Amino acid sequence: MNTRNLHFRSNRVRDILALFHEELDGQCGREEVNVFLEMLFEDFLGWNRVQLLTSKENTIDQSDLLRFHWALEDLKSHRPIQHIIGHTDFCGCRIKVSPDVLVPRPETEEMVQWVMEGDQQREGRVLDLCTGSGCVAIALKKGCPEAEVTAVDISEKALAIARRNAESNGVEVRFVQGDVIDEAFHVPLSSYRLIISNPPYVMERERAAMQPNVLDYDPALALFVPDDDPLRFYKAIAAIAQRHLTKDGLLVVEINEALADETSALLAERGFQPAIHVDFRGKPRWISAFLSL
Ligand code: GLN
Repeated sequence: MNTRNLHFRSNRVRDILALFHEELDGQCGREEVNVFLEMLFEDFLGWNRVQLLTSKENTIDQSDLLRFHWALEDLKSHRPIQHIIGHTDFCGCRIKVSPDVLVPRPETEEMVQWVMEGDQQREGRVLDLCTGSGCVAIALKKGCPEAEVTAVDISEKALAIARRNAESNGVEVRFVQGDVIDEAFHVPLSSYRLIISNPPYVMERERAAMQPNVLDYDPALALFVPDDDPLRFYKAIAAIAQRHLTKDGLLVVEINEALADETSALLAERGFQPAIHVDFRGKPRWISAFLSL
């Protein structure tokens, strides 16, 4: 163990909290650091929020202290908290993450919650394209056990994580490997009541504005699209939906907030009636669309 371990003044919880704030508030902001601390205490020691707040004078074991030490070092080098603890919560499902999948985002959770508040997925088949960790498919199946859910991803490594996530959440999802923008890709089964997707949509030229915790840890495959064809996934998804959505079925896609109007226009041109939805940050974040009659 190198001398950095000596950063910690003691094994007392109060001192651990103070050190995390000293070292990270400048980088992440105090609120965010509190969230990290809650997640770490929960994951390492099984403490809930109240326990943490009422145990500040307690001390923890040396072996646990070391885990906090490494977590602090990781956070300082921008490793996402979800990678440090290995999972995240998505609509009440515990979703394992790794560098092979995009860390599920709260905006995506909001989109899925919106879908579940409607009745579009209640029965019949659901297709999730570019599933990554499987979070969308798994949350929909969990919220709506009578739906028959199929999820597609190009990456076998992502699918391995997604399968484990379905199993650990006790839901059955049919996972299929495939490239949705390859014309040779055939959607399994024939008609879906809901087609949903959070495809890659970040333009290469947006790279410069991105945070290191995203750039260094989320898979580029799940994020980026070429500047000269940023809607390539939406074109493919629209084509799949034209063929495979039931007449009254719903298409729901997460979008790049800078391309909301373009994405909406693309769907309108292809025979859909799109509606743009704004997320909790006030940004246009997903589009829902019925097929025009
Ligand atoms: N919203 C994600 C981000 O901020 C991108 C997700 C995606 O490309 N589908 O990085």
